Amino acid sequence: MTHPSPSSSPSSPNTLSHPALAAQDPELAALVGAEEQLQADTLRLIPSENYVSTAVLEASGTVLQNKYSEGYPGRRYYEGQQNIDPVERLAVDRAKSVFGVEHANVQPYSGSPANLAVYLAFAEPGDTVMGMALPMGGHLTHGWGVSATGKWFRGVQYGVRHDTGLIDFDEVRDLALKERPKLIFCGGTALPRTIDFAAFAEIAREAGSVLVADIAHIAGLIAGGAHPSPVPHADVISTTTHKTLRGPRGAMLMSREEHAKAIDKAVFPGLQGGPHNQTTAAIAVALHEASQPSFRDYAHAVVANARALAEALLARGFDLVSGGTDNHLILMDLTPKDVPGKVAAKALDRAGIVVNYNTVPYDPRKPFDPSGVRIGTPSLTSRGLGTQHMPTVAEWIDRGVAAARAGDEDALTKIRSEVADLMAAHPAPGLPTH
Ligand SMILES: *Cc1c(COP(=O)(O)O)cnc(C)c1O
Repeated sequence: MTHPSPSSSPSSPNTLSHPALAAQDPELAALVGAEEQLQADTLRLIPSENYVSTAVLEASGTVLQNKYSEGYPGRRYYEGQQNIDPVERLAVDRAKSVFGVEHANVQPYSGSPANLAVYLAFAEPGDTVMGMALPMGGHLTHGWGVSATGKWFRGVQYGVRHDTGLIDFDEVRDLALKERPKLIFCGGTALPRTIDFAAFAEIAREAGSVLVADIAHIAGLIAGGAHPSPVPHADVISTTTHKTLRGPRGAMLMSREEHAKAIDKAVFPGLQGGPHNQTTAAIAVALHEASQPSFRDYAHAVVANARALAEALLARGFDLVSGGTDNHLILMDLTPKDVPGKVAAKALDRAGIVVNYNTVPYDPRKPFDPSGVRIGTPSLTSRGLGTQHMPTVAEWIDRGVAAARAGDEDALTKIRSEVADLMAAHPAPGLPTH
């Protein structure tokens, strides 16, 4: 099989897919075309990324973007909502149906503003809030110091056990009962294991806290039945729509009816102005896709692929935080491989394998130069790769890390061409076929 040398891509910008853009602004069109080529040719392993469908892309590029709609369906501050109201109602109804919740707000601009709205709805500045520490796998917006949520609130943080890499619920309970936080966040960005929402709910009940399940990473797995749902346990559910859920960049807040008013008021007028209607439409499309039987297959395939990849990496001597994975995500500690995470991540990028460097729990190195690399299977599963491909992916990672240690650029170039061959045989959704 022949293919253009991926390192010299793109050969030409993809003027066919975006003719008006190419005519109007060739410089920008060339960058978009180059990004399309890059996403087509590379093995994208960043666990928070995905490939949206052409339908989601089309919805997010519509004239709905021209419309101002401050407020909620039926109670807007602008006229002309004849079509926008039903679009938002569709998105809300589909969110309620896919996740089995009483209330959904689909307006948050992204995951971080969604979480800020939760603070606004349930806490006062200076209140104590609790979440997982960022270097342990939590998110910035769970009260970490550099975030507004850690500056305007008093963040107390739990972690995982050093020996197991798992959450220690005795530690979480002790901290919660001592600190009595207004909010307890569970969920995170680098957690390879199932989140025990029931255990968190029991602690939150004892401590008198509002439990927020931040399912940004795993929303698609939950929608597809491949991870337990927080719905019976959490007071508020926060999620992005663009990770495993495979929708546009956006977010949603979900809850029982009793919290609907507080959440809606916090999002608008508390925090935001007009909703991004083109995004709302694309969320509706993504939720429609997530309600199909094929999405269940997708979610389970994501997990099966991650498990197979973890096994293949363990067989090659990689050290995986918590010893493996239950979900879409794998966190590798590269200390035994004698390569810093950043050096490995940059080398793998040159090999056409896109990952991110990441701290591991109790990392002795600095966050900007940590010991780990975080990978995941949502994107490659969207391209139709299966468990039979995971030994090859593990082999590429192993060779790439070895080449990083040895400074062997030729080995990286060789991997890049092998990766491009497999990617060419598995076209990604949403990308033009060049
Ligand atoms: C990605 C993520 C967010 C933030 O989402 P953005 O859209 O990047 O603001 C919040 N919480 C968790 C757990 C996440 O993984």
